[in-house]
Amino acid sequence: MSDCCSVPGLLPFEQALASMLSQVTPLTETVKLPIKEALNYVLAHDISSPLNVPPHDNSAMDGYAFANESLKNNVTLLLAGRSMAGAPFQGECNVGECIRIMTGAKMPAGCDTVEMQENTIVDGDNVTFSQEKKQGANVRKAGEDIQVAQLVLDKDHKIKSIDIGLLASLGIVDVLVYRKLKVALIATGDELKTPGQSLNEGDIYETNSFVIASMLERLGAEVIDFGIIEDDFDKIKQAFISADRQADAVISSGGVSVGDADYTKTVLDELGEIGFWKIAMKPGKPFAFGQLPNSVFFGLPGNPVSALVTFHQLALQALIKMQNAKPIKRTYLQVKSADNLRKSPGRKDFQRGFFTVSPEGENVVYSTGVQGSGVLSSLATANCFIELAQEQGSVKAGEFVTVQLFDLYL
Ligand code: AMP
Ligand code: MG
Repeated sequence: MSDCCSVPGLLPFEQALASMLSQVTPLTETVKLPIKEALNYVLAHDISSPLNVPPHDNSAMDGYAFANESLKNNVTLLLAGRSMAGAPFQGECNVGECIRIMTGAKMPAGCDTVEMQENTIVDGDNVTFSQEKKQGANVRKAGEDIQVAQLVLDKDHKIKSIDIGLLASLGIVDVLVYRKLKVALIATGDELKTPGQSLNEGDIYETNSFVIASMLERLGAEVIDFGIIEDDFDKIKQAFISADRQADAVISSGGVSVGDADYTKTVLDELGEIGFWKIAMKPGKPFAFGQLPNSVFFGLPGNPVSALVTFHQLALQALIKMQNAKPIKRTYLQVKSADNLRKSPGRKDFQRGFFTVSPEGENVVYSTGVQGSGVLSSLATANCFIELAQEQGSVKAGEFVTVQLFDLYL
C-alpha cells in the first residue's frame, strides 16, 4: 500500500487552519450602538438583566384572583375589584373576596391563586367556584423567566434578531459592541467580466466577489469591494496597497496557483509576508495566507467552488476570531452514502452532498453530481459537505460517511 498521508509539499487541512488561527488577533475597538442597529455585531461586554421578567407576579389566565384559603370554607366569593394589564387593582383583597383579573395583570395584594373564568359562575357580585385550586395555580411569579442580575448574553456573543427582542424586553437602550470588521475584496484575472458587461472570446463572468461579499454580509463585516483588477503590475499593486490601508483583512481570488501568469504573487511578495500554501484539501489546494503591513491577507483559489470552500472552511474561521465572536459550532452527522463516491487518498475532500431522509425513513446523503472545482451548481443544489478524510479512498454506496451540514453562511 502506498503511503497516502504524507504527500510531499501538501499541508494537512487541520494544520493550515490551526496555523492561520494562531496568526490572527481579535479587534479591540468598540462602539456603542442602539439595540436596533446591533444585529450581527459582537458584544463587548456581558449583559445582565436590570430587572425581573416578569417584573411582578401576574395572572396566566383571564379569571378571578383570590387568597387560596378563601375557598377552604366557601365556594362563593365576593367580587371586590378588577386588575387589568396596565391598570392593577390598588387595594387589598381580603379573605372571602376575589378580584376579576386578566392575563398578564398584576396579582392584587392578598391574592395567591387564580381560577380561570370558565370554571366559575358569576351572579352579580357573587362568583361561585366549581372546584378548589392549588395555591399558586395560574400565577406567573416575578423573575420566573429572568431574574434581576442574571446573565442573559455574554461577551463575544454575536447579536441575533431574537437577542434584540430580548434586550428590548429588558428595557436596554444600547449596547457596547466591537466595531465591524472591514474586509476588502479583490478579484484578479484578465478573463473576468462583471455581469452586465459582454463577454469576449475566452472571458467568463466574475463570481467569487459576489458570493464572498454576500457571505461577509451574513458575517456582519463591512465589505470594501475593489471589483476586478486587470493583470497589470502597477494596478494590482495599487489595489493591494489601497485595500491594505482601508481594511482589517484583504481577500483576493485567483492568481495563487503555481505557474499563474498574473502579477498577484509578485506584488504580494513585495508588500508582505505571505505563505503560498498547497493544502491537502479538495477543492482548494492553492491558498495564500499571511500579513500585509496593516491587514491580514487571504488568497483564495480562482475556481469558484474552491474559492467558496476555502473561504468557508478556512478564512471564515479566522475572520470570526478577528471579530471576537465565538467559533461557529458546525453540525456533523454520520450517515449512509446513497451513492458511490470517488476519492483518491492524499487530500481531504469536501464533496457536495444532499442530506435527506430516504423513503425507508433512513438518514442518507446523495452526491450532488459532478464535483469539479468550477461547477458551482454542485454547491447550489447541496445542503452539506461530505467530508472524507485525507487518507480515505473511494466510498461504496451504503457505507457511512461524515456529513457537515451547511451553516448559516451558505
Ligand atoms: P487562477 O487561480 O487565477 O488560475 O484561476 C483558476 C480558475 O478560476 C480560472 O479558470 C479562472 O478563470 C477562474 N477564476 C479566477 N477568478 C475568478 C472569479 N473571481 N470568478 C470566477 N472565476 C474565476
Ligand atoms: Mg488568474
